[in-house]
Amino acid sequence: MATPRTEASRDAREFRRVVRECRSAKIQLVRFLYCGNDGVIRGKACHTRFLPSYLESGIGLTVAMQSFNMLDQLVAEGSFGPVGEIRLTPDPATFVVLPYAPHTARLLCDMTTLEGTPWEACPRSFLKRMIERAAMQGFGFRAAFENEFTLAHRENGHYVPLDHSPCFSTIGMDSSAPVMTDVIEALTAQGVFPEQCYAELGAGQQELPVRFADVLRAADNQITVRDTVRGVTARHGLLASFAPKPFVDQAGNGAHIHFSLWRGDQNAFHDPRGRYGLSDIGFAFIGGVLAHLPALVALTAPTVNSYRRLQPRFWSSAYTAWGPDNREGAIRVPSQRRGVEMESTNLELKPSDASSNPYLSLGGLLAAGLDGIQNKRDPGEPTLVDPDTLSDDERSRRGIRRLPTSLGEALDALERDDVLRVALGETLAKEYLTVKRSEVRGFDGKDAAFEIEQHFYKF
Ligand code: GLU
Ligand code: MG
Repeated sequence: MATPRTEASRDAREFRRVVRECRSAKIQLVRFLYCGNDGVIRGKACHTRFLPSYLESGIGLTVAMQSFNMLDQLVAEGSFGPVGEIRLTPDPATFVVLPYAPHTARLLCDMTTLEGTPWEACPRSFLKRMIERAAMQGFGFRAAFENEFTLAHRENGHYVPLDHSPCFSTIGMDSSAPVMTDVIEALTAQGVFPEQCYAELGAGQQELPVRFADVLRAADNQITVRDTVRGVTARHGLLASFAPKPFVDQAGNGAHIHFSLWRGDQNAFHDPRGRYGLSDIGFAFIGGVLAHLPALVALTAPTVNSYRRLQPRFWSSAYTAWGPDNREGAIRVPSQRRGVEMESTNLELKPSDASSNPYLSLGGLLAAGLDGIQNKRDPGEPTLVDPDTLSDDERSRRGIRRLPTSLGEALDALERDDVLRVALGETLAKEYLTVKRSEVRGFDGKDAAFEIEQHFYKF
């Protein structure tokens, strides 16, 4: 077990490595980044001349940023305002040179108090707490986001999709090839490995699933993917949007989460004798996620625009149903791949998009699943058809509920959900709800054009 002293000397060694790498890559600016309650990626950059001391102390940030919403407003009724300071304390393991910004590198940060302890309102520290909770039960958690996003131009004040290529078509592969190959090269250079790449159904839509990783790294990777796709695309004179519903009449952008629980090098979801190759632990985890799903979506689908996406018959899921290879189920049990059965056993959460803070969404998912294991929650019968085709009676007989149809409804469910609220901790839960409720009010009475304009370029 690492003592504070060995941790401190390991950090010091790692910080020296970061400084050396900056020197050899001729870096001038190092971004200290975080993702706040509003899901927007923000931070400050310091000049490398002063880097060693900022690595040590962290960069100062006003506490108010955790009361900021995605409309870039400081929420009046938030807990944090102009007085008070935290530190953005970098994790040296997240250091990368940014391929899309000249002479620039980045570090991902925890929010810490001035004394250097995790700040109660820090999302990344929340995920670390949930990792610790799983580890106490002997589990590690792995995940990957399967992002969809839209490539577009800005013309006469409107977003215009790059193409109208058919789903999975080579037309869409070719029209996006110059930008997508650069995106892939830039991600690979940062240690994030795209596994597949293709044109999706929506206009200008691309999909880029990346390799799974331990969950903290998976959340960090999500920040890398969002920033890199946007940064590389901008260098091609285009815009990339991860907004959940960038065009009202088109397929939405999901960021489905693939996840699995591990005991050492054994996949705890895998049981070759189990139904669909899933273990009892896997079924209980599904049971936990479904039980908490109406609240969990407040974290995984956390913007007003998210609920324009979560409609029946759009393959985004709209009900608390699960099933094998059921792409209208909130949880799909993907069929295992021949030859890599154990490794490929995983579950997919569909009501998730890239406007989420990945630390909050993955931490919430893990908390819900662990609750399922602890309470041996039964996921009920698998749904083998599109749940929207079942009658209301049939859905209620099977315990299938409609997911919240608005952010406000999801936030109410989160407030009522003791497991998730307690996991988040009082400070973070309260502030998250406050910030997100202000977004609900901010879009109240506004039209779709305003909503899309606001979400398109921030996510
Ligand atoms: N675009 C769909 C969504 O909003 C997902 C389509 C699919 O990959 O199954 O989640
Ligand atoms: Mg897809």
